[in-house]
Order: sequence, then C-alpha cells, then structure tokens
Amino acid sequence: MEKSELRRSASRMCQTRLTKAVLLFGSRLIAEAACEARAQHLAAGKTRIRTALGLHPQLVHDRKGELPQFERLISETRYVGEVGLDGGPEFKHYWEDQVAVFTRILNICRAAGGRVMSLHSRRAAKAVLDALENHSGAGTPILHWFSGSNRELARAIDLGCWFSVGPAMLRGEKGRELTAKMPRDRLLTESDGPFAQVAGRSAWPWEVGEAIADLGTIWGLSRADTERQLLANLSSLGRAAGVA
Ligand SMILES: [Zn+2]
Repeated sequence: MEKSELRRSASRMCQTRLTKAVLLFGSRLIAEAACEARAQHLAAGKTRIRTALGLHPQLVHDRKGELPQFERLISETRYVGEVGLDGGPEFKHYWEDQVAVFTRILNICRAAGGRVMSLHSRRAAKAVLDALENHSGAGTPILHWFSGSNRELARAIDLGCWFSVGPAMLRGEKGRELTAKMPRDRLLTESDGPFAQVAGRSAWPWEVGEAIADLGTIWGLSRADTERQLLANLSSLGRAAGVA
C-alpha cells in the first residue's frame, strides 16, 4: 500500500472513530473495526492488511449493543482486537459492562474455533489473565502495551501469551524493562495509533519503525537481525494460529 494512500485511509479511520488502526505486525496491518463495510473497503485488494473485529473496553459502555453484530461477523475474520479490560479510574465505573462484554467475546471466539486476539489490559492484567485462563480455546492472545507487574508478565508467558510493543511503550523505562523480559520469539510490533501519541499527535502505522530500533537496542541486535526476528515471529504466529 502506498504511504499516501494509507495516510488517507488512516485519516478517515480517525475521523470516523469507527476503527482503531493500527497494529503493525511485521509488515501486516491489523485494523480494528466496528464498521464492517468501511473496514472491508479500506482493506479491499490489500494483500498485506488483515481486518480485525474489535470492541474496545474503553468504549463498551457505549457500544455493547454491537455485540450481536460482532457475533454475526466473527466468521469473516481470523483476527479480533482490540478487546479486553481497562481498570483505569475513568473506566472502572463501567467494569461490569466490560467484564460481561469481554467474557461474551471470549466465548464467541472459542465457539468460532479460536481467533488471534489483540488484548487491552491497562490496569487490569490480572483480570484479563484470569479470563484467558477460564476460556482456553478462545485463540492466540496478544497482550498489547502490557504494563502489569513482573509476576503478571511471568503468568502471561506461562499462559502462552504473545506481546506487541510500540514506540510509545518503549519510551518509558518500565515498558523497556518489561519488554526485555518478554520471550523474544513471541513479540510483535504495533503503532497503537490513533490512541498512542508520538510527538504530541496520533502515531502513524509506519512509525512502528522506531520500535524496531528500540528493540534492537534491548536485544543487542542489528536492525537487520531485529527485523528478521520480528518477521520470523509473525510467520510463527501465523502457523500457530492457522492463519499463515
Ligand atoms: Zn489498548
């Protein structure tokens, strides 16, 4: 996809708030969509884009009525995200809604045979991991911008979770320390735009390159070797999830 075309697409996504683009997995993009037609239009004919079905925990109190639509569309994609829980003070008020929706989504994914899932777990790592443990078969979990404790990270690794990290996460010392402890062969990159900010504005998908540089520093690898590792991880995820 041309950069200018992607920029226009991403701009449209931001304007409509219908999608939260974008996770960049190696060279592929996963966009979270609440609007099937628009998302499918954006991805039409783009062989390196995968569209995911999402219901963000920060929006569920407003959008839980979209669950039937979610269930109807699950057969059309192998990817789900973002979904999960947010325990931050501004969203804790909607905790019951969040748990109900996330539980329902995990059940939908399990009934569909499992999905690659991008999971939001801000201030809710324990609850997200509990839910995953109780819904084995829901799919391959990818914890994005994981910010839990070292003990929760160890538990996530034991549960088979993958991790995605981006430039905003790697700017912080805690983010870098956690990343250094994540299994190198279960790590992917993400932009996390438009939620995540780079230089005071929403991150663009191609700014994931900054994360590659930071990962190279953490791993002690050259940029070429870091990119090779990330691409190998993407292939391995695809094989593990049956979506290669
Ligand atoms: Zn998130």
